Amino acid sequence: MIALKGAEVSAKIKEEVEELLTGLHDRKPKLAIVRVGERPDDLSYERGALKKMESFGLQAESFAFPEDITDEAFKKEFEAINLNKEIDGILLLRPLPKQINEKDIEHMIDPGKDLDGISPENIAKVFAGDDTGFAPCTAEAVIEVLKANNIALSGKRVAVVGRSMVVGRPLSMLMLKEHATVTICHTRTENLKETCKHAEILVAAAGRAKMIDASYVGDGAVVIDVGINVDEDGKLCGDVDFDSLEGTASMATPVPGGVGAVTTAVLARHLVKASLSRQ
Ligand code: NDP
Repeated sequence: MIALKGAEVSAKIKEEVEELLTGLHDRKPKLAIVRVGERPDDLSYERGALKKMESFGLQAESFAFPEDITDEAFKKEFEAINLNKEIDGILLLRPLPKQINEKDIEHMIDPGKDLDGISPENIAKVFAGDDTGFAPCTAEAVIEVLKANNIALSGKRVAVVGRSMVVGRPLSMLMLKEHATVTICHTRTENLKETCKHAEILVAAAGRAKMIDASYVGDGAVVIDVGINVDEDGKLCGDVDFDSLEGTASMATPVPGGVGAVTTAVLARHLVKASLSRQ
């Protein structure tokens, strides 16, 4: 089984970013990472994103707010970031605490700065197959992993486990645009194992540590693991039991070191594109 490493895909995207940066006349695009509270997974994503922006030659600044910030106060702060001319793109770490109306923020964010595709305008574009907006970075990262490894989607049977607006749904639409035949699975799916086993490309985005083992995977299938979970020993793991796939899957992404590394590279590319379209 071949391990599909995210670092190689990220390096390819870095070359593309460097090429795009030549069109920017010395101006370094700037990302704003907006965080409310101190959730460990937010902090870890933030660290990864800051490191990636720096290694891609881009600027990034964190805007952190207390967990108990009011809806009104947060919206005021968010609007200032949204209007700030020095900022080319925004990454909002979610979910937000309950007192903040996340829907309002999705409508507020400038679609041109909405690098992770949360605004209704960008989501509509993903569903319409229009690539002039920003798709959610993780969903796009999965497409990048497949493309970089010459895994064609056209005509292929794909099963996506998960139907969230962050991963499962937008990813299914991006795959449909590439002419795959996509089955979207969720907790009410009957015969989940059989559906997954029938797929030539299986994507796990359920958020359930190691739930997908070899019994879900057809011979020679490609398995993409989007999950980021912590196992019973406190170690980072995916939704897929990677080691169990040996002898069944032809290729699979590891966790860590798979899709996650590509997500922040896609974020960097979105940032440069946002910056280019503002000049
Ligand atoms: P959500 O919890 O929002 O969605 C999970 C989806 O999986 C739901 O649609 C749910 O179905 C489905 N699901 C859960 N359990 C099962 C099951 N046993 N059988 C079938 N379907 C199931 O998660 P996200 O989409 O936000 O994230 C998914 C995973 O991806 C998480 O591990 C998250 O940490 C990771 N992630 C990784 C990123 C990266 O950069 N690599 C970025 C973002 C997320 P239902 O709708 O019926 O409840």
